[in-house]
Amino acid sequence: MKRRSLLTAAAASAAASALPKPAISQGRLRWRMVTTWPKNFPGLGTGANLLAELIGRMSDGRLEVEVYGAGEIVPAFESMDAVSSGTVEMGHGAPYYWKGKVPAAQFIASLPFGLTAQEQNAWFYYGDGQKLADEVYAQMNAKFFPSGNTGVQMGGWFNKEINSLADYDGLKMRIPGLGGEVVKAAGGVVVNLPGGEIMPALQSGSIDATEWVGPYNDLAFGFYKVARYYYYPGWHEPATVLDNFINLDAWNKLPDDLKAIVEAANRAVNLSVLSEFQARNNDSLDQLVNKHGVEVRRFPDEVLSGLGKVAGEVLTALADQDPLSRRVLDNILAFRKKAISWAQVSEQSYMTARLLPFDYARPSQG
Ligand code: CA
Repeated sequence: MKRRSLLTAAAASAAASALPKPAISQGRLRWRMVTTWPKNFPGLGTGANLLAELIGRMSDGRLEVEVYGAGEIVPAFESMDAVSSGTVEMGHGAPYYWKGKVPAAQFIASLPFGLTAQEQNAWFYYGDGQKLADEVYAQMNAKFFPSGNTGVQMGGWFNKEINSLADYDGLKMRIPGLGGEVVKAAGGVVVNLPGGEIMPALQSGSIDATEWVGPYNDLAFGFYKVARYYYYPGWHEPATVLDNFINLDAWNKLPDDLKAIVEAANRAVNLSVLSEFQARNNDSLDQLVNKHGVEVRRFPDEVLSGLGKVAGEVLTALADQDPLSRRVLDNILAFRKKAISWAQVSEQSYMTARLLPFDYARPSQG
């Protein structure tokens, strides 16, 4: 009986392979992905490219994604509208760009004085992060995936020293998201510009200062040509997650295996982008300092403490206006409390230990 059914199956299979093949387009999907990044921009645009490439290869071409840079189909900040409405199926950007649509989106991106990249990934994958982000993005008719992370950013480019919180008074600065709200509360005048528009604004003097990402990306834009001081740390964006947002109707219609591929590709990109930033920032900081003579300065503790206090007030006030923001913030705060305890005895303690003045192995002079 068993042998017979095997033979029958083989015969059926042979018969099926003799049938005409379905048209190549059948069962194959062509999606478009708009991004908030200049086309092929290092780390960010190339992260979006990698996502598209992986989805195409992993699905053997059943889902092909074509990537568009900012302005190619829609301007950077209209990317979410294009995805929500179904004009395109997919987008790549950063959650805080959508705070005007759903305020809680900015809490997903990165909290000033909040989680590090590894802690944030732990929150997305093993805490409530993915679930809460999906709830936030569903209000924009989109599915969310973490799709890259910058790691801790730099504090920004300034032409005057920042010695006290009062130095933010009247300062015109490009700084998005919650960090921007904090600078505003500290007396600054905040503008939100997509990456490609920052350099002209700095050159014309329409802004006094800007932050962007970190050495790798900031070197690419050439901010060192027009700004003198490069401050750290990026208290405002300790780990900004990039978002892959997918039109919810298009997502729901995907077969399960393609859903799994999109999810797995995003996990791979999330790791890849963070790793690329780590590797390139090492080299780029060296170039900025030793080749371009940039003055790298640490914000004084007094400034950081002041900004931290203002950040707490800003987060509380924003969360109190919006129940979903409050739930996201409360969830992150609970995670952050435990993460700080663990970090103190793990990464933070180890990094301090690594800097103790002991003789250590050196590369051989081969
Ligand atoms: Ca930034």
